[in-house]
Amino acid sequence: MDRVPLLLHACCGPCSLEPVRLLREEGFEPTICWSNPNIQPVAEHDLRLRTLQAWADDVAHVKVIVAGDDRAAWERSVAPFGFDRAARCRACYALRLAEACRTAHELGFDHISTTLAVSPYQLFDTCGEVLGKLAQASDLTPVWRDFRPHYPDATVRSRELGMYRQNYCGCRFSAAEAAIERHEARDARKAAKAAKRVG
Ligand code: SF4
Repeated sequence: MDRVPLLLHACCGPCSLEPVRLLREEGFEPTICWSNPNIQPVAEHDLRLRTLQAWADDVAHVKVIVAGDDRAAWERSVAPFGFDRAARCRACYALRLAEACRTAHELGFDHISTTLAVSPYQLFDTCGEVLGKLAQASDLTPVWRDFRPHYPDATVRSRELGMYRQNYCGCRFSAAEAAIERHEARDARKAAKAAKRVG
């Protein structure tokens, strides 16, 4: 059976593992599309892209297309939302997925998907809604799947493969939010230990 070509927007290597496997199982043949101008700083962006490319070449044997990465557009259309996470992430998905849809349309793909649907840290419903609207506007069929139950497998497999794994989503706001969450979790653990000692 010939697999159905599909353009898969990928946010990073570890998040691509399960979507590529599951989409292939479903009868699609993914080509990966990189468009992530949200990732800061540039060295981090380049490291994530290199990690993805190495896995795609050596392990998954999937083609990677590097599409537009308009960092100035991200600053204009996403950064002004600052720590308003709901609005910021919606705008960020829209920028990246619009570029993926444009690329898919230009290259003659009929189907589009994104690895953003694997991480429980993303705003799943918002992302699906944004992809659906953009795909429709480009005459593409969105292949929107809930890959989140497979996130733990992706974590294990990417560790086994020795892949670089980041601890924040990508933008400077998410780096600050993740650092605060880690500090809060550490403080909560310390408080729980202290309460145990007193008890
Ligand atoms: S948290 Fe992630 S999805 Fe949201 S704006 Fe930042 S980089 Fe984009």
